[in-house]
Amino acid sequence: MSYRGREVRDLLERLEGRLSRAVLRGLRGSNAHSATRLLLKWNHQCAYCDARDVPLELDHVHPRSRNGSNRVSNLTLACTPCNQRKSNQNIGEFLKDEPERLAGILAHMKASLRDAAAVNATRWMLYARLKTLGLPVECGSAGRTKFNRVTRELPKTHWLDAVCVGTSTPESLIIKNIVPLQIRATGHGSRQMCRMDKYGFPRTGAKQRKRVQGFQTGDRVRAVVPSGTKQGTYVGKVAVRTRGTFNITTAHGVVTDIHHRFCVLVARSDGYTYQQGKEAAFPLSA
Ligand SMILES: [Zn+2]
Repeated sequence: MSYRGREVRDLLERLEGRLSRAVLRGLRGSNAHSATRLLLKWNHQCAYCDARDVPLELDHVHPRSRNGSNRVSNLTLACTPCNQRKSNQNIGEFLKDEPERLAGILAHMKASLRDAAAVNATRWMLYARLKTLGLPVECGSAGRTKFNRVTRELPKTHWLDAVCVGTSTPESLIIKNIVPLQIRATGHGSRQMCRMDKYGFPRTGAKQRKRVQGFQTGDRVRAVVPSGTKQGTYVGKVAVRTRGTFNITTAHGVVTDIHHRFCVLVARSDGYTYQQGKEAAFPLSA
């Protein structure tokens, strides 16, 4: 989606009032493009206090007075009070008591404006399409999701964040004994046909046939090994080997070299893996 010409002007008109007038004036013309993208990239809010619906100013993350560049990659948006408090401090000094926010801003600065604009444009298009279905659709900001999660004292996981989106999140959520089912797209074995070396050249030949002894990589199998070092029962995703001994990825790890005669097909591969298990909590970059 392009933001050139008329689209830029339309967008700017709609966004007027969200940037202070002086900043907008400075950014009109050749830089209007950057202004809209900057607003999209920083989600129309102050990078330092998340304030929304207030006039925003451009802030040089590394100050001009300290040889910070004038490039868009060095710009963020700040409300007037934050901008004045920061003054000509470096971002590291200014946010020394908020290491989490500092890391978030630094990571976000690296995201290109074009990527940020594309993500947001896709997001709104998706929202528009969903609304046409006539079902209730609700949006929530990332800040609202985090607020909902933190006030309900929930750990940071993908599935719990999904529950916490929007203002309709119930006051209390019963999550005890709920184990999310994780579905991951793995493909049908038709994309990467062989291994690559580090330069991206084929390192091995493509398999002559996908099926080995009736099994195919990605199938879910159950293997009962009655004796030997691999004795036990294993359930999981199989990776076939032409020689007839397979690897099985179970919930507890990978078991290698299981002979096909111990394997029983549970489900054919449909291009996805399904795993019921605890999702690890991961650190959040706001
Ligand atoms: Zn602020």
